[in-house]
Formats: sequence, structure tokens, C-alpha cells
Amino acid sequence: MQLKSKLPGIGTTIFTVMSQLANQYQAINLSQGFPDYECSPELVELVNRYMKAGYNQYAPMAGVPALRERISEKQEKLHGAKYDPQTEITITAGGTQAIFASVACVIRPGDEVIIFEPAYDSYAPSVILFGGIVKSVELSAPLYITDWLEVEKLINEKTRMIILNTPNNPTGKTLTESDMSELIRITRNKDILIISDEVYEHLVYDGRQHLSISRFSELREKSFITASFGKLFHTTGWKVGYCLAPEWLMSEFRKVHQYEVFSVNSAVQFAIADFMKNERNYLEVSDFFQVKKDFFHNLMKETRFDLLPCYGSYFQSVQYSRISNEKDTDLAMRIIKEFGVAGIPVSAFYSKGTDHKVLRFCFAKKQETLEKAVNKLAKV
Ligand code: GLN
Repeated sequence: MQLKSKLPGIGTTIFTVMSQLANQYQAINLSQGFPDYECSPELVELVNRYMKAGYNQYAPMAGVPALRERISEKQEKLHGAKYDPQTEITITAGGTQAIFASVACVIRPGDEVIIFEPAYDSYAPSVILFGGIVKSVELSAPLYITDWLEVEKLINEKTRMIILNTPNNPTGKTLTESDMSELIRITRNKDILIISDEVYEHLVYDGRQHLSISRFSELREKSFITASFGKLFHTTGWKVGYCLAPEWLMSEFRKVHQYEVFSVNSAVQFAIADFMKNERNYLEVSDFFQVKKDFFHNLMKETRFDLLPCYGSYFQSVQYSRISNEKDTDLAMRIIKEFGVAGIPVSAFYSKGTDHKVLRFCFAKKQETLEKAVNKLAKV
């Protein structure tokens, strides 16, 4: 018997591929986005305490109520948006599962979904798995400017969803008020839903503010917002995130979520709920990463890579026209093998593999890791 693949043409995610190569060649891994330093010892202590106190059985399907309450308070305080913890917030196994369940509960065969590329690599396969058709808007380096008239031209009666990501992985761009106005205009009175992937919401730089889609009531009513505690609290391995959506969408989301994972590990949820009581634990995250971004920026200026603007996320994209004319995949490979640093070729974030000759490096690393890595990159 042969299994006809539901995802022909999709291989192993670039993050796994590059991290494996980094291990194989013992290269410094600036490819997959995860910290190489410890999370807060207080948070670890809280998880420990809850485990020892016996909080080891199923959490409620939608998540621990205290955690949903903290999230609701945070969203209201930061963005003026009210989400009912009972009916409009669900704790997920990370941001990627929240995105998957949002797609799964909406997309039927033939539905069209607009995504902006370069894009996080889970969006397109999630859509394709449910028979959806991906309509990509390709943005170009170095500025990755969105032409909303081009987006508008893609819209027709089959368009069911638009997937946004701000701050953006891999470009580091953030959506502006004018982007939001355009989005409001082109989706008005249409049956189009939005997924707003905001996993990097607390990683914004140089005085910028994160513009959550929940600030715009007309958009909020038709949006799933996905978020990640892995990114926020330096705990990507815990795989805990959440989804916010108005009740009419969240009730459908939960129908998928309950059979996809049922619920997420309970001790971590109780611990994060306690940890969030001190708002400094999330409000100071941008300052923490600003230091890393500036540090990495300054070091990289001594190399022959050209830095692209980075307004948010923990990724720095670079062009390399002063170094070579190679394909980004070839150069990424060569830098791993010959120089000992792993990055991601940004062509992996385009469904057509479009190569703008850009590499992405993750700066969520210890200063010494960044120093060692840039010493090596300076030789390229
Ligand atoms: N979001 C992270 C990145 O872009 C990794 C996510 C993953 O590996 N699934 O590197």
C-alpha cells in the first residue's frame, strides 16, 4: 500500500534542518529562534512548586482559569481590548498550534488564504492540509514594503482568510497604523477572517509600540490572535501559548483544540499565571532584547554583511552583496561548514524559494555566544 501524501512537496521544517546541521558541524546556532540562556529561576521554581503540590493532572480544556484571567487583564491594559477569559481565550501548545487550530476550524477545500512572504513556514502547510489555496504576496528585501493595492487585487469571493505576523519573522518589520487602515478598508463587509500572529508582541525596539490587531475593533471582531509564552519568557521548550478570538470564532477554535491536544500541561500554566502577576516580567522584555539587538548590531557592523532594519522580533536579517553572489542556501551551508555559524537562508520562507540573498540570524543568545559568532562571521 502507498500513502498519497497530503503535503507533497513539503519537507522537514527549515528550523529542524538548520539546527541539525549546526549540531553536525558543531557550529554556533543562530538559526532556529530560541534562547541559549536560562529563563527566570523564579519561574522554574514556581513550576517545581506546582508539580510538587500535585498539579499534575489535566488542566481544563481551554486552559487554567487564572492564566486566562491574567492574559485578559494584560490585553485590556496594553491594548484596551476586552477578551472574556471564559469564552474568548484558550491556552495552546505554543503559537504554532494556535495558528494550526485557527486555520483548521475555518478553511475548507478551495478557500483562499492570503499570506505575506517571507513567512513563518507553518502557515502554508496548515492551509494546504485542509484543502485551502495559498495566495502569496511576495515582499522584497531590503524594505519588504506591503503594496495593499496588490493585496486587494487578490481578494475575491473565495478569499476566506488573511494571515498577518507583526512583529514579523523573519523581516523584523512591524505593521503601522496605515497598514491597519488599509487592512480595514480591504476586508470591510467581506467574509474574510484574520489570523494575527503576534508571538513577538513584546519584542519591539527603539521606542516603537506593538500594534495589536485587537486595538482595531473592526478587525478584532474577525480575528484570531496567536501568542507565545516561549518567546515571552524564554521557554520555547515548554510549548505554551494562547489564542484570543471573539466568542463566535473561539467556540469553533475549541472544537478543534479539544481533539488536537485536549489541554496543555497544567503546572506550567499555574506557574505562568503567578509569574504574570508581576507585570514587569513581561513589560521589561523589550528592554532586555533591545540590549541584545544593539549589541549584535554593533558587532555586525564590523563584518561585510549589510544589516536590514529590525523593528521587532529576535531576528536580524542581513544582505551579503559585498561578500558573494551565491544563492542564500549555498552561502548558509558554506558559513556553517567553513566558518562555524548557522543562520537561516530567507528563501526558505518563500513558497517559490525566491532568493533575495538574505540570511536571518537569531540574536536571542548570550553576549559571549554573539561575540564568538560575529568573530567568525567577520571572516566571511
Ligand atoms: N519561530 C522560531 C523561528 O522562526 C522557531 C519555531 C520552530 O522551530 N518551530 O526560528
